[in-house]
Amino acid sequence: MNGWTSRLDYMVEKLKGKGFRITPQRIAIVEVLANSCDHPGVDQIYREVIKRFPTTSLATVYKTISLLKEIGEVTEMGFGDGSNRYDGRNPHPHPHIMCVKCKSIIDPDLSSLNEMSKELSAETGYKIVSHRLDFFGVCPDCQKKIE
Ligand code: ZN
Ligand code: MN
Repeated sequence: MNGWTSRLDYMVEKLKGKGFRITPQRIAIVEVLANSCDHPGVDQIYREVIKRFPTTSLATVYKTISLLKEIGEVTEMGFGDGSNRYDGRNPHPHPHIMCVKCKSIIDPDLSSLNEMSKELSAETGYKIVSHRLDFFGVCPDCQKKIE
C-alpha cells in the first residue's frame, strides 16, 4: 500500500483546489509532512527540503505549513517553549504523548478516548466535534538515562 503517496497527492490537490500556487519546493515540504512519523518541527522540515531544493527559504516552509493548517491538513503541537511541531500524516484529531527531555512525540493508542468523549458529552450536554489532547512525560529511553 502506498498510503503516504496518496496522502501527499491529497494534500497537494487540496492546496491546488484552494487556489494556492504549487511549486516543486512546496510539494517537497508537503511530502516531508505527509511522510514523517516523528512530528517534525520547522527546522527539521527545512533541513530535509534543502537537500533537494537548496534555494528553498525558511519563509516558504512557514508559509506552506500555515496554509496546510488553514485547510485543516496539518495539526500543530508544542512544548510551550515556542518551538512547534507538526503532524501532516494524520489530519484527524488524536492524542499525543510528548517527552519533555528528548522532545519525541508519538501517537498513543488510547482506547478510553471514546468513553471519555461520551462522558464529557453526557456531563456537559455538548456535542463533541473535535478534541485536543496532549500528554507530557519522560519517555522510557530518557528514564534510563536519568537512572
Ligand atoms: Zn525522551
Ligand atoms: Mn500525531
